[in-house]
Amino acid sequence: MAQPPPVILITGGAQGIGKGITAHFLNSGWRVVVLDQDTDAIDACRMDLGDPDNLLLIRADVSQEEDVISAVAEAVEWGEGLDALVNNAGIADPDTGPIEKLELAQWQRRMDVNLTGTFLMAKHTVPHLRQRQGSIINMASTRALQSEPNSEAYAASKGGLLALTHALAISLGPDVRANSISPGWIDVRAWQAHAPSEPQPLSATDHNQHPSGRVGTPDDIAAMVAYLVSPEARFVIGQNFVVDGGMTRKMIYQD
Ligand code: NAD
Repeated sequence: MAQPPPVILITGGAQGIGKGITAHFLNSGWRVVVLDQDTDAIDACRMDLGDPDNLLLIRADVSQEEDVISAVAEAVEWGEGLDALVNNAGIADPDTGPIEKLELAQWQRRMDVNLTGTFLMAKHTVPHLRQRQGSIINMASTRALQSEPNSEAYAASKGGLLALTHALAISLGPDVRANSISPGWIDVRAWQAHAPSEPQPLSATDHNQHPSGRVGTPDDIAAMVAYLVSPEARFVIGQNFVVDGGMTRKMIYQD
């Protein structure tokens, strides 16, 4: 009997990097569940990628445990199981201003979404992922490893994700593999519901400072997710994969 198509749940999958991952997996024959809190982005995603047999879009906030419980139940019922989870939802704006003026509520919201949301999603999907020898991918950032000024809350939330990833990997192996991806600069403007329809082209400086010769795209990240959930990555556990066009390997001392 033919195997049913595998099922992947992508948080924040209605726009930006997440939408790129959603498109990639739909094109690769997976059934995809997108969980996102932005209804405009969900509507746009349905219009652009809509495939009622293979794409389920659920509005939910990953930082709210009741939302997570009901979304996971709906996803598993629709997909008849779950093979992979991508914890991609995040408040992607790193700049929260000077530490002296950083409000506790701003700090807390980044922790709640970027870090606690990942914990909640893992907690409630693990029983289903175990049944399929599944895989978890957490979307961290190169800002877990290096910083610009005024990014304490974002950097700390993403650093926490690296630690959460290796803790999950050790607790859940060999049934479920957990790894993280740390993207560098990924140009998501053409993939966002609220961005201008014709974003200004990036400059030659933007591109050429990268050893890759260009800024990243959501496809660059989707390709790494595809590898990490594949059987070829079955010996890859608890690692963080930097996908940044080489930027964090470049020395930047000025003459
Ligand atoms: P984005 O803002 O385009 O997409 C983020 C998505 O997450 C949105 O659809 C948003 O609605 C959703 N989301 C936010 N809070 C949520 C919540 N509480 N519950 C459910 N959904 C929620 O951002 P992006 O640039 O595509 O970033 C995606 C991920 O990649 C983020 O975790 C971000 O930190 C990380 N990242 C992005 C870059 C980059 O250069 N774009 C670099 C490094 C890391």
